[in-house]
Amino acid sequence: MFSRIFESLKIQDKVSHNDEYKIRYQSLTDNLAASVVIRDCHGKTTYCSPYTEVLTGYSLQEIYNNPDFFIESAHEEDRSLYKRALKICASGELFNFKHRFFHKTGIEMWGETRTVPIFDTKGEISSFLSITLDVTSMVRNQKQIEEKNSSLRDFTYMVSHDLKAPISTIKGMLNILQTEMPNFQGDNLVALEHIIKATTRLESLVGSVLEYSKASNDNLSLGPVELNEIIPEVINDHQTAINNSKAKISIQDLPLIHGEKLKVYQIFSNLIGNALKYRDLKRPLEINIYQDKTNTRLANIIVEDNGCGIPNDKNDKFESIFRPFARAHSGNVEGSGIGLACVKKLVERHGGEIKVESTVGQGSKFCVSFLRLAKQAG
Ligand code: ADP
Repeated sequence: MFSRIFESLKIQDKVSHNDEYKIRYQSLTDNLAASVVIRDCHGKTTYCSPYTEVLTGYSLQEIYNNPDFFIESAHEEDRSLYKRALKICASGELFNFKHRFFHKTGIEMWGETRTVPIFDTKGEISSFLSITLDVTSMVRNQKQIEEKNSSLRDFTYMVSHDLKAPISTIKGMLNILQTEMPNFQGDNLVALEHIIKATTRLESLVGSVLEYSKASNDNLSLGPVELNEIIPEVINDHQTAINNSKAKISIQDLPLIHGEKLKVYQIFSNLIGNALKYRDLKRPLEINIYQDKTNTRLANIIVEDNGCGIPNDKNDKFESIFRPFARAHSGNVEGSGIGLACVKKLVERHGGEIKVESTVGQGSKFCVSFLRLAKQAG
């Protein structure tokens, strides 16, 4: 008797739980600012949340009545994405994609859709759930920013490139004047020397802007790069500075990475060049180049020195040294402040990142990451 009452109470409890879930589910999908669509295994739309009307401009009835509604309202070039999403979903996987579609008014919109399979209690796919967010304004803003950045980059490249010719002309004229220098006296001589210095500085600035613009714009042709070949080349090209500083350099076995040879060379040439430049005269310079093997997907390459270290008053985790023309040391060490800005730009364009740790009076440790490639055996 008791057990029967108990059973019936359990059933009632289940029913009230089911009702509660239904209400919760209903109010969630009714109020979500996203379109929720459920299709059965034959592709028929069995549920469409009210927000789908807002997103598409069509009434729910119009959507239910047209079995091809979503494919037809999609942008022609993005229809294959829909089909791919359904195929991937049918194989039991989820699929995320960004796509264009047309609102009833004809306006082109952007949606971000996540399509997932729904499994029944036997573990078989019973239907497909798609949730679409309106990302139109985000995509438009992103495009505007990209366009502005791109025209800014073109402008910077053009200005810096086109300034090179007139600067060369001025330098040529100054050379002619310099040969006449013995005839220059007093204030005239001082003025001429000022002009020569200013022109040299201008030429170096324009060169730096051009270098940065190239690091940002040049197309990368990526492929396998053997760091065990590139780093010795870089060391070889810095041999004079290495001899002058009597630096001890150690290079451990390095990985094969995905990159562009010339740019990878440029990255390490800058880092090793800086390690040589910013040395501490109180001790012999040591530079270690090695990899952190803990990450199997990424190749983390470290260039470590026991140089003077980087002062970091603003507590900005050394962010500022990666900005164009920013320098943490001035005065006795020559430089333009563009090298690390280029390194950061190039590393990021390779899909990696650059980090630095440094202590004044002890040294600095730069870590750059690339995609690691498997080496062929033998
Ligand atoms: P720069 O032409 O001044 O060397 P970079 O962009 O290469 O320009 O570096 C920016 C600044 O970061 C440098 O001016 C220097 O203050 C600091 N820096 C870079 N590398 C090192 C290093 N290995 N040790 C100490 N300071 C460094």
